[in-house]
Amino acid sequence: MLDEKIKLEDLLEKRKDIDETGYINTIAIVGAGIMGQGIAQTIASSGIEVIIVEKSKSQMEKAQPILSASIDRDIKRWSITKSEKKAILSRIKWDTSLDKIKDCDLIIEAVDEDFELKKNIFQKLDSLASKDTIFISNTSTLSLTKIAESTSRPDKVIGMHFLNPVPKIPLVELVKCLHTSNDTVEKVKAFAARIGKTPVEVYEYPGFVTTRAIVPLLNEAMYILMEGVATAKDIDTAMKLGYNFANGPLEMADSMGLDEVLAWMETLWKTLGEPRYRACPILRKLVRERKLGKKTGEGFYKYDDHGNIKD
Ligand code: NAD
Repeated sequence: MLDEKIKLEDLLEKRKDIDETGYINTIAIVGAGIMGQGIAQTIASSGIEVIIVEKSKSQMEKAQPILSASIDRDIKRWSITKSEKKAILSRIKWDTSLDKIKDCDLIIEAVDEDFELKKNIFQKLDSLASKDTIFISNTSTLSLTKIAESTSRPDKVIGMHFLNPVPKIPLVELVKCLHTSNDTVEKVKAFAARIGKTPVEVYEYPGFVTTRAIVPLLNEAMYILMEGVATAKDIDTAMKLGYNFANGPLEMADSMGLDEVLAWMETLWKTLGEPRYRACPILRKLVRERKLGKKTGEGFYKYDDHGNIKD
């Protein structure tokens, strides 16, 4: 607990320094799924206002209580107060119209891993936002260069590959596409520091570092399960205790969202052509059945309403 308090103080100190540059102050997020919610919580916890745009009122109303519950969990972890929770939530505004993003300095896209969907959103954003606004995608595997080329500002398009759960993971991969300018990289690096993340710069390549390295491990664990070598629980226990992982590969896949994991594998398989990226049939079956992991209450495990694995 002491260590975590020290980390929070460091973060506040770092934020104070960067605030003096006063650059990025208005931020929008498009998509309030697993990642959009986590990014919003992280930004708002750093004292910055953020607006989240969802595609429908029903999706928005689904996301709001999940985000609130996630802040509750962090309140316990960081021993912060209920009034701080109120302050964090008051910094997050919600909407279902992209028109609201017009005056933002920076827009973070976190919709499903689908190239056509992302391209359409970036084209709409391009027609609405000020010409200086920086566009960020949280894509894990898609080509940022192609996304950037669908806009009139390819030099201001960059990837910020946050990892799940965003408030807890200190890393962000900064993904430069063919056109990203150094000015954009520097501004986004300062923004990453301001919200307490350590950026690692990577060049565009399918899966960057983290997705490319983790996906074959997740897939192998699924094959081990399918071939009847051990139960899901025993596979995860073996990997946690054997390699000191915080989470086993199957629970990790469940919390990432099995539809997202499958989408990453499809792109990696298509673009890199390596058999290690060919999705295990058990993953396809679960996605077909809409058993997408924690977010739908069932995947490799079943989950209760608080997102805990049921025994
Ligand atoms: P998700 O399915 O949980 O959420 C996607 C959200 O986007 C949904 O709430 C959906 O309603 C919303 N959306 C779809 N179309 C929209 C539109 N037109 N306007 C506004 N909102 C719209 O997905 P996720 O896991 O949050 O992934 C989002 C992105 O982040 C993907 O590109 C994924 O590859 C990437 N990513 C995911 C993880 C992970 O562990 N899940 C990690 C790193 C990066």
